[in-house]
Amino acid sequence: MAKKDDKSAGQKLEEKLLIKSEAIGEKKNGLLEEAQAYGEEYKKFLEHKTEREIVDYTIPIVKKLGYKEFVYGTKYKPGDKVYFNNRNKNIITMTFGKKPLTEGVRISVAHADSPRLDFKPNPLFEATDMAFFKTHYYGGIKKYQWTTIPLSIHGVVTLTDGKTVKVTIGEDDDDPAFCITDLLIHLAYDQVQKPAAKVIDGEQLNILIGSWPLDDDKVQSKVKLNIMKILNEKYGITEADFQSAELCACPAYKPKDLGLDRSMISAYGQDDKVCCFAQFKAETETKNPEYTSMMVFADKEETGSDGPTGMRSVFWKDFLEDVGAAWGYSVRHILRKSLCLSCDVNAAVDPGWPEVFEARNCSYLGRGPVVSKYTGSRGKYSTNDASAETMGYLRSILEEAEVPWQVGELGKVDVGGGGTIASEISIHNIDTIDMGVPVLSMHAPMEVTSKVDDYLLYKAMKALFASKKAKDF
Ligand code: MN
Ligand code: MN
Repeated sequence: MAKKDDKSAGQKLEEKLLIKSEAIGEKKNGLLEEAQAYGEEYKKFLEHKTEREIVDYTIPIVKKLGYKEFVYGTKYKPGDKVYFNNRNKNIITMTFGKKPLTEGVRISVAHADSPRLDFKPNPLFEATDMAFFKTHYYGGIKKYQWTTIPLSIHGVVTLTDGKTVKVTIGEDDDDPAFCITDLLIHLAYDQVQKPAAKVIDGEQLNILIGSWPLDDDKVQSKVKLNIMKILNEKYGITEADFQSAELCACPAYKPKDLGLDRSMISAYGQDDKVCCFAQFKAETETKNPEYTSMMVFADKEETGSDGPTGMRSVFWKDFLEDVGAAWGYSVRHILRKSLCLSCDVNAAVDPGWPEVFEARNCSYLGRGPVVSKYTGSRGKYSTNDASAETMGYLRSILEEAEVPWQVGELGKVDVGGGGTIASEISIHNIDTIDMGVPVLSMHAPMEVTSKVDDYLLYKAMKALFASKKAKDF
């Protein structure tokens, strides 16, 4: 067995001066065991598939944990916890710190929406004795991945009397499933010659929902009417009510452990519920922090962050302004001193496609949470580029908390890329950094993360919220 002083002078120098990037399991083999309980909780969270379902799930939890609905004009005391619900699609939670808000707030934002198939306003039609829902996909998807998989239906329907009915079908074991059919291979000679973007057309993303006719010869669309009858009996809705609905189809898979070693999680919607859960758990566990902590569930990230619930909306800044108003603070003074983690997933290096990754600067499954100084592509277009000071500050907090992490660029410089909400936040003069976990098969109906990465992201956020280190830049 080699003794410590057997190391050569060069080896010692190497240890001191060079980065060694390795799977966390190599160094901390027991960590997976520690991450298992976290994985169980995380899988529960993932069963809620839309931003509305995440809000519905978390509000009772925060209330139980002692959070009170935010009341304008209240001078909250250190340790007080408040929440704010924006249109049942965003939640903000906040724990007041000992320092005044003008010393800065520690913020983390993650989006609870994921790519899916939204129903069109007139979705229901019948063809060849079958009934379907027409969809318009939400977010960036490879359309061919969404055929011949079990789908579930989620959302709300608002009736003209103002009542809103919630719909979830296809998640319980006893529920029926739905699907989009694909052409049989025997007749697909032409189809499979097409580029992948055209193998399935947007207008072919029609969900099969029924095939049994209503027993009345005088009716024309018997299958369609029978489906509407079933929906009317269950939810009290008519066809016109689809026009004031937000319904969508999501993959019906249940979140599961992945791998014989159970080291990973496979589930729909981990982009970005993996970060939502980490920041939610970290913020709600924060007690009497030095600096005020704040967590935001964002919506509409997958379609450009527009609308009143996207991060381009002022809802979160208005909230900060309203909180600070009790002391007469200007919101700009709070923003200037604050720090924000824009928490979103990154692409994990996939050995099946080495040509799109730059091995030294992309992120790897199982090497810890990934910090991205910048996103964007092709000349850093449309990116928040965190300053050296901001990166240094975060590094020092992670080092102090002994949370291993890695850097991550989203693929090679000229290959592609993608943006995050970091630029919607930093535009308000907040130092912002992207942080998340590496994901395999991002935006596919089933995405893969490493349990240890997921767990360490939560640890990293806890460290940020708990840190007493002043941000003096
Ligand atoms: Mn994302
Ligand atoms: Mn995404």
